[in-house]
Amino acid sequence: MAKYSSKINKIRTFALSLIFSGFIVMYIGLFFRAHPVVVTLFMLFGLFFILLSTVVYFWIGMLSTKAVQVVCPGCGKPTKMLGRVDICMHCNEPLTLDPELEGKAFDESYNRKRLQK
Ligand SMILES: [Zn+2]
Repeated sequence: MAKYSSKINKIRTFALSLIFSGFIVMYIGLFFRAHPVVVTLFMLFGLFFILLSTVVYFWIGMLSTKAVQVVCPGCGKPTKMLGRVDICMHCNEPLTLDPELEGKAFDESYNRKRLQK
């Protein structure tokens, strides 16, 4: 179960890694100080990553308003879930809104199946 994490947490990690990539790209650009054009390109590229992460953070905000707030049966804390199956943000307990899937092994493909219909 450890390899799964809540969808909102996953997107948050992705946005954070984008910010870091942006700063790393900008930092690499500083090594080319002798070539202002290259530095500018690196800076723009880094800025692009940071802007992209802002967009992703905005997207998380949008998703959070659509997420269903439930109380986790595993740890008793309130958590947000997206789609038909998700993972508790606090204890990684698999959660489902569909009674048919209750008790079944967690499988992220349940979400994909619903999207294909
Ligand atoms: Zn929990």
